[in-house]
Amino acid sequence: MIIDLHMHSNISDGSLSPSELVHLAYDNGVQLMALTDHDSMDGVHQASSVAEELGMGFIPGVEVSTGWGGRVIHIVGLGLDASAAGVDAFFRDVCTKRDRRGQLIGERFASFGIQGAYEGALSLADNKDNLSRTHFARWLLKAGYVSQYQEAFDKYLKTGRPCCVEIDWPGLDEVVELIHSAGGMAVIAHPGRYAFSEDWMLDELFKKFQALGGEAIEVCSGSQTRDADQKFAEVARQMGFLASAGSDWHTHGGARPLPGHQSPIPEDLTPVWRFLRHL
Ligand code: AMP
Ligand code: MN
Ligand code: MN
Ligand code: MN
Repeated sequence: MIIDLHMHSNISDGSLSPSELVHLAYDNGVQLMALTDHDSMDGVHQASSVAEELGMGFIPGVEVSTGWGGRVIHIVGLGLDASAAGVDAFFRDVCTKRDRRGQLIGERFASFGIQGAYEGALSLADNKDNLSRTHFARWLLKAGYVSQYQEAFDKYLKTGRPCCVEIDWPGLDEVVELIHSAGGMAVIAHPGRYAFSEDWMLDELFKKFQALGGEAIEVCSGSQTRDADQKFAEVARQMGFLASAGSDWHTHGGARPLPGHQSPIPEDLTPVWRFLRHL
């Protein structure tokens, strides 16, 4: 069975509408998918109706940003009810912080003589309520301030660069609790991508997450290396985590594999989708 439990639409920083994304997944043979936009479940309703029309399995999802150990960690919530108490208010609050951060990023760019960055980024966001650093990167490229998309992150936007403004993201405990209170399961996204200053911090993250009741980790992710997939398969085995998998697809022409094209999880691991109800 071809499964993909991590993908983005233009409700966050992906390029396709939820409906177009479901069609792309379907055309790539995906039989069970989750839509996991950053900090928003606003695309889930549209995506689930389209998946139902196509006779495809669908799990509502979200990729929640959280601060831990001085890094931004992404927690995928799967199977949670977007209409459960507190869910909408939680994400509206995060998106308000995203907009405020966007204005501050705009001010930083202005101090470098780059005017209109906030307005420019907003003009490229299909969903004005979920502004991302990626919209700034796209605008810088379009306006000719950088010659490559990645240069925008490397020069200005990534952690430690002058136009990266941090958000006071919700804590790991709050995020796991929100996902559980809405009936979902919590998954550490792409564990191979967190560049902690000390190696032991990743182990601490796993322990803390498990102590909070976190159920799964993404063993196979289109946004980490195949070596990392193997490493985290072993972590799932040792620590008793359920295993999840997803392409982390955002856009055509991006670095991520097509929907469903991440590596399959090793057969001895227990997949998280076994415990998730779907269409
Ligand atoms: P945000 O959630 O608005 O802070 O933006 C985070 C998004 O920016 C991630 O989901 C990635 O899509 C992208 N991103 C973050 N760091 C980098 C980087 N160093 N290079 C390229 N893209 C990045
Ligand atoms: Mn993204
Ligand atoms: Mn992520
Ligand atoms: Mn993602």
